[in-house]
Amino acid sequence: MVSRVIPVDPFDLVIFGGTGDLAQKKILPGLYRRFADGQMPAEARIIGAARSDLTSDSYRAMVRDAVSEAIPEGRRNGDTLTAFLGRIEYVTIDATGTAGWTELAAMVRPDVVRAFYFSVAPSLFGDLAKRLNDHRIASRHCRIVVEKPFGRDLASARDLNATLARHFSEEQIYRIDHYLGKETVQNLMAVRFANVLFEPLWNAQYVDHVQITVAETVGVGGRGAYYDKSGAMRDMVQNHLMQLLCLIAMEPPSRFDPDAVRDEKLKVIRALDPVEPKDIVRGQYLANDTLSGYRDEAESPDSRTESFIALKCGISNWRWAGTPFYLRTGKRLKARASEIAVVFKDAPHAIFGQSAGTHRNILSIRLQPNEGITLGVTIKEPGPGGMRLLDVPLDMSFADALGPEASEVPDAYERLIMDVIRGNQTLFMRGDEVEAAWAWTDPLIEGWTERGDAPAPYEIGSTGPEEAAILMHRAGRKWREIRP
Ligand code: NAP
Repeated sequence: MVSRVIPVDPFDLVIFGGTGDLAQKKILPGLYRRFADGQMPAEARIIGAARSDLTSDSYRAMVRDAVSEAIPEGRRNGDTLTAFLGRIEYVTIDATGTAGWTELAAMVRPDVVRAFYFSVAPSLFGDLAKRLNDHRIASRHCRIVVEKPFGRDLASARDLNATLARHFSEEQIYRIDHYLGKETVQNLMAVRFANVLFEPLWNAQYVDHVQITVAETVGVGGRGAYYDKSGAMRDMVQNHLMQLLCLIAMEPPSRFDPDAVRDEKLKVIRALDPVEPKDIVRGQYLANDTLSGYRDEAESPDSRTESFIALKCGISNWRWAGTPFYLRTGKRLKARASEIAVVFKDAPHAIFGQSAGTHRNILSIRLQPNEGITLGVTIKEPGPGGMRLLDVPLDMSFADALGPEASEVPDAYERLIMDVIRGNQTLFMRGDEVEAAWAWTDPLIEGWTERGDAPAPYEIGSTGPEEAAILMHRAGRKWREIRP
């Protein structure tokens, strides 16, 4: 397979928060990979910006360390890294003060794409937006990239949207959800909309239910105080899991363009039913011999914030009425694994008799690890002995199908940043989408807060609380295994 890298236009990318965790772990290593792949034109430039008093040289040394840490030795090249560092500059700037803004205004060039990555706390977004405009650094066609969390409820998301809208048009705002930049997630759209095979079956008549699982093995660790104000619903479901649900459930857009895709996703969110309390299971991991429990890491020892959530939701439209969507995410679970499973209904009539057992087709889309798509089909078990049935996978693991180049598939961040430079908003959330997602989420959170529901405890390394399994069993279903 020949990699087809199309260079983007020349750009100045300013990373506010250029010394922070996200910039060092994801954004800068991602940019290095795009550079090494030849996607950055000679005139591309990256400007780190933060309050720390650094020279461009000391910032480059910091970036060298960050890239070396994130990318294994065999996958990076010393000369290429040095050439990449040649594209980097630094400006000391204060989002809430006057320092650095005149210098930044003098640095950005008039005739290249201008993008500003707000990799700072959301409380600084308004300050940055205002100062970029006050100092005429924001041009009419510039773009801003904003990180999650985008609000903590509908009211704060509306405020944030209104703050940004005072200075930028919606076409300039790129709200990032890195799940949408994953190769498999985009492949999901290709599978759905470029094949005739699935679309006739993609509805309540043939799909029994859909499961979306994002399981992590890490705990909240040092982020306990922050996480405790958020919880799994706000941190994962409202954004990542809902975006995945939208891609599974949406109608085919008329074109693969930003507003056509996002219009369809918005319709799904607006068609989501409220979730009844009996269909929500929240949990908190307990300590074990070596690891601390959620409450030891959280801000308060009697915290009621969930580190695990499973819920069953319905979509009230013609395509999906009657087909439940089960969402599940949690920390300190058995394995790190993310999967979307579309579980089809049984064949209408079992001609092979009861002894052949029941078999179902399952389309599994794995996001991590080993990104890939598997379709489970039922065949005859080979050999004599009558018609015994066997489920086997038709496997499209990227590593097998695409060979070594599968490992070169760009990481979500680098792909999305290149989309920003290209001016393509398809894989970014629109303001109304984010607000609709909060409008669905808020009453659920308010409900369990008002009722004072306590999360159920679960063991570290398990699949979550027992109640989550019961949620499925009640309907005669079961969760997919959480497998590394
Ligand atoms: P972080 O490590 O705390 O970094 C914050 C950055 O902001 C630092 O570079 C800091 O540098 C800079 N900063 C703070 N106050 C500033 C000010 N007044 N003016 C200019 N710069 C200022 O945070 P992070 O983990 O990188 O997260 C950044 C954003 O990404 C947050 O919105 C977070 O929610 C989001 N996010 C992060 C991750 C992740 O994996 N880390 C994942 C998803 C989303 P100085 O102190 O030198 O100013």
